[in-house]
Amino acid sequence: MAKLTRRQFGKLAGLGSLGLMTGCTTSSLVFRKKPRVVVVGGGFGGATAAKYLRMMDRDMEVTLVEPNSTYYTCPFSNLVVGGVKGMTDIAHDYKTLQSKYGVNFVRAKAYQVKSNAVILEDGSKIPFDRAIVSPGIDVRYDKMPWHSQGIEKKITHSWKAGPQTMQLRRQLEAMANGGTVIICPPGNPYRCPPGPYERASMIAHYLKNNKPNSKIIILDQKEKFSKQPLFTDGWDMHYGDLIEWRSETAGGKVSEIDAEGMRLNTEFGWEEGDVINYIPAQWAGAVARKSGLADDSGWCPVDHVTFESKLVPNVHVIGDACKAGAMPKSGFSANSQGKVAAAAVVSMFWGEDPVSPSFANTCYSYVTPDYSVSVAAVYSVKEGAISGVEGAGGVSPKDASAIVRKTEATYAQGWYDSITYDMFG
Ligand SMILES: Cc1cc2nc3c(=O)[nH]c(=O)nc-3n(C[C@H](O)[C@H](O)[C@H](O)COP(=O)(O)OP(=O)(O)OC[C@H]3O[C@@H](n4cnc5c(N)ncnc54)[C@H](O)[C@@H]3O)c2cc1C
Repeated sequence: MAKLTRRQFGKLAGLGSLGLMTGCTTSSLVFRKKPRVVVVGGGFGGATAAKYLRMMDRDMEVTLVEPNSTYYTCPFSNLVVGGVKGMTDIAHDYKTLQSKYGVNFVRAKAYQVKSNAVILEDGSKIPFDRAIVSPGIDVRYDKMPWHSQGIEKKITHSWKAGPQTMQLRRQLEAMANGGTVIICPPGNPYRCPPGPYERASMIAHYLKNNKPNSKIIILDQKEKFSKQPLFTDGWDMHYGDLIEWRSETAGGKVSEIDAEGMRLNTEFGWEEGDVINYIPAQWAGAVARKSGLADDSGWCPVDHVTFESKLVPNVHVIGDACKAGAMPKSGFSANSQGKVAAAAVVSMFWGEDPVSPSFANTCYSYVTPDYSVSVAAVYSVKEGAISGVEGAGGVSPKDASAIVRKTEATYAQGWYDSITYDMFG
């Protein structure tokens, strides 16, 4: 199959990096052997990287290792919790990656990634020249006060889309009118900073329309949160006093969890909940930690130009699992990093110097199905670290009209459709 010309490669790479991927020369477009890349994890980072590797170089052997045949996106899973969408609306598969792009799909869980092979849980090995690892996060049950194994049977986190998304939805459906829902967002850093507050909004939307005597208490481990003035304005406008937010120092800090009694201890005493959604602290997915890719923080340090691990050679880590400087842990960031890492890997095989990338992130949050707010930012690499570009991006205007909020809700759906097509279509 034909290789890309320098011009085509630059064009493709530019999709992930705002067009700043230049600097390839045509001098080394032919390599000695077929390069083999293994991608671990088929989510926002991994699916994007696998597809773009094959788009950039059809001679490359790309194998995607992922245990599930269906991927449910966390983006829009809050709308499932709120009954606005169903699980099928957030379900995607890997068929097009295989049939159209020629990605080898191995349905398995990686146990460990070494510098030249991925070891699967059954002990078999997939050798590689380079690997891109994007396993997302694991929640830290070990950091939960008084956690006992099996706590998630009653108290969900629902921070990985899938069965727990539906479990939380069913708990809300089963709750009586007049019940209390408690949401406990974690301290920073964690996956999707505005996510817990969008979740509160979508649950409030459901309760307002179906169980109006109920309430939501947010017990936060922080003093402030992403897009706070926009959320609180939207809550006041649409939900009155249905949502009560308590910061860490205003009684939000949870010191004890009594799962049997469905109650949480705070500085001001026990709070009982009919539904409790406790989102624990997080760290890089287990395979990254077991492979020595994470440092003491639990996250993976990487070079910010190539995303190659600073701890294990030939292995790149992208998405929520990596430390990406100023970039938030979001699907948009992971998708952008997937393209940058793919371009860096291709450059390395071609004997070229990877060029300094630039990235973008936009995150929409629904307050009601017709009222959305957003935050956007642009990033570049300065002195070896990803930092925000001053003056680029910002948040939705504070006192915008209903039409602006509704337009943003339409944009949010457009964003979802285009990014999932970019990953799986
Ligand atoms: C409620 C909620 C709402 C969100 N909303 C938004 C939003 O609106 N916009 C946005 O940009 N982001 C949003 N996010 C964040 C977004 O979901 C994550 O940032 C994104 O999924 C990170 O991509 P990733 O590739 O790092 O991990 P993931 O997308 O989680 O993918 C990881 C993949 O790796 C696989 N995997 C794990 N371990 C192994 C292993 N050992 N072997 C093989 N495969 C493995 C998993 O099965 C999974 O498919 C939201 C998150 C939540 C929780």
